[in-house]
Amino acid sequence: MTCMLIIGASDAGISAALRIKQLDAQAQVTLAAADAYPNFSICGLPFYLSGEVADWRTLAHRTIQEIESHGIHLLLDHRAEKIDAQAKIVQMTAPNGEVKAVPYDRLLIGTGAESARPPIQGLDTPGVFFLRWMADSFTVRQYIEHNKTRRAVVIGGGYIGLEMADALTRRHMEVTLLEFAPEVLTTLDLELGQVIRKELLAKGVRVVTGQAAQSIGRDQGELAVTTATGETHAADLVIVASGAKPATALAQTAGIGLGASRAIAVDRTMATGVADIWAAGDCVHTWHRLLQTHLYMPLGTTAHKQGRVAGENMLGGQRQFEGSLGTQVVKVFDRVAARTGLRDKEATAAGFDPLTVSLTTWDHKVYYPGATEILIRITGERRTVRLLGAQMVGHHAAEISKRVDIVATALFHQMSMEAMADLDLAYTPPLSSPWDPVQMAAMRWCAALNGR
Ligand SMILES: Cc1cc2nc3c(=O)[nH]c(=O)nc-3n(C[C@H](O)[C@H](O)[C@H](O)COP(=O)(O)OP(=O)(O)OC[C@H]3O[C@@H](n4cnc5c(N)ncnc54)[C@H](O)[C@@H]3O)c2cc1C
Repeated sequence: MTCMLIIGASDAGISAALRIKQLDAQAQVTLAAADAYPNFSICGLPFYLSGEVADWRTLAHRTIQEIESHGIHLLLDHRAEKIDAQAKIVQMTAPNGEVKAVPYDRLLIGTGAESARPPIQGLDTPGVFFLRWMADSFTVRQYIEHNKTRRAVVIGGGYIGLEMADALTRRHMEVTLLEFAPEVLTTLDLELGQVIRKELLAKGVRVVTGQAAQSIGRDQGELAVTTATGETHAADLVIVASGAKPATALAQTAGIGLGASRAIAVDRTMATGVADIWAAGDCVHTWHRLLQTHLYMPLGTTAHKQGRVAGENMLGGQRQFEGSLGTQVVKVFDRVAARTGLRDKEATAAGFDPLTVSLTTWDHKVYYPGATEILIRITGERRTVRLLGAQMVGHHAAEISKRVDIVATALFHQMSMEAMADLDLAYTPPLSSPWDPVQMAAMRWCAALNGR
C-alpha cells in the first residue's frame, strides 16, 4: 500500500490528508506535526486573546478523534528534522527525544510560516511576544492574566497587528500601535488605511506611524520600546507582528529549491521538482492568477486549496492550483477592510495601464435605518476595460466581505468592468441597492474612462 506522509497538520496538511482519504479510503496517511494542535484555526488566535472566543478548544476545526476517524494516523509533537529523498525517509524527533526514521512513498511538506523577526534589539526580552502558534497564545494569555498588564505596544500595523490592537483594547489595555510606514494597513491604499486609523483612534488606540521600532528594553519591571527617532513607549506587554516568512529549513534538507521570497518553489501541481515530494501552504510561493507568476502570499484560504490540490496529485491526479488573487479581509473594531487583485501601483508595475477610481456610497438604501458609507477604490485596465482589482472599507455590518468576494469572482473569470456591472446580484433595501455598491463603482469607473 502506498504510504503518504504529510509534515504539518494545519490548513495545507489537513486539506491534503482529507482529500487523499476522500478519493481513496484505503490510502495509508500519516500526518506529523511539531505541536499537539492539529487542524486548529490560528486565524482565530486574536479572538481568543480578546476574550471573544472563550475556550481555545473551540478553535479546532476538527478534534483529534474526528481526524483519526477519517483513518488518518497522527504523529503529534513530532518535529521533522531531515528528509532523505533518495532513501525516502524523514527523520523525526519524538516528544521523548527519540529519533525516528519514518518512511514514505509520497511526501507533502506543509510546514507553514514562521513569524518574521525584524531587526529590533531586545526581541527576547521577557514580555515580548510573537503570535503564530497555539502555544504562543497560551503564553500571551497567561502573561496577561498573571501580570495584570495595563499597557501594550503592538509593533506592526498589518492585519495581525490591527487584530491584536483591537483584541488588547477589548481586554481594557492602553494600546500603542507602532508602524514603520506612513499609514497602517499598507496592503491597502493610503485613503483606506486612514479610515482604519480613525477607527483605531476612536476606540482609544494610540497610533504612531512613520517610526521604526529600534530596541526593546526592560527597566524596573517596565518595558520600553524605543524608535529610531528616539521616542520611547512604555508597556507591560509587547506584541511583534511584523510579517511571516516561509518555513523552508526542512525542505532544503531534501535539496528542494526556493522561489519567490525564498519560499519553497513548486509548480501549479504543487510538485517541488524532487521526486515524490509536494509542498503547499505558507511554506511555498503562490501562483498569482492575474500576474501569471509566483509571489509569496501566505493566507489560510490559499493553504487549504493548495493542500487539496497536492493531496489529489499525490494519488496520481493532474490537478493544478488555479491561483490566488490575494483576496483578503480584516475586521478592526467596527470597520472591515478588504482587497482583491491589483492596486494601481501594482498594476502599473506589472505592465498594465491602469485607471483607479474612488467611490463613497451607502451600503443599503438610506431610508432603511442603519445605512453606513462604504469607500471603494476600483482598478481596471484602460485599453481592455478589464477589471484588475478593488479595495474597500466600511462598517462591520456593511457586507464588505461579500462585496469584495463579488469582485474576486469577477476577477477570477477575467470579467470587464461592464460585465461586472451587468451581474444579477441580490437586492432588498435593508441590505443593498438595485445597483450594488460594487456595480456602482464599476459604472463610475467606466464613466471616468470615458471622461464623464
Ligand atoms: C494570528 C494570525 C491570524 C491569521 N488570520 C488569517 C485570516 O484571517 N485569513 C487568512 O486567510 N489567513 C490568516 N492567517 C494565515 C493563516 O493562518 C495561514 O495562512 C495558514 O495557517 C497556513 O497554513 P499552513 O498549513 O500552510 O501552515 P501553518 O498554519 O503555519 O502550520 C504549519 C504546520 O506545520 C507544522 N510544522 C512546522 N515545521 C514542522 C516540522 N519541522 N516538523 C513537523 N511539523 C512541522 C506545524 O506544527 C503546523 O502543524 C493568520 C495567521 C495568523 C498567525
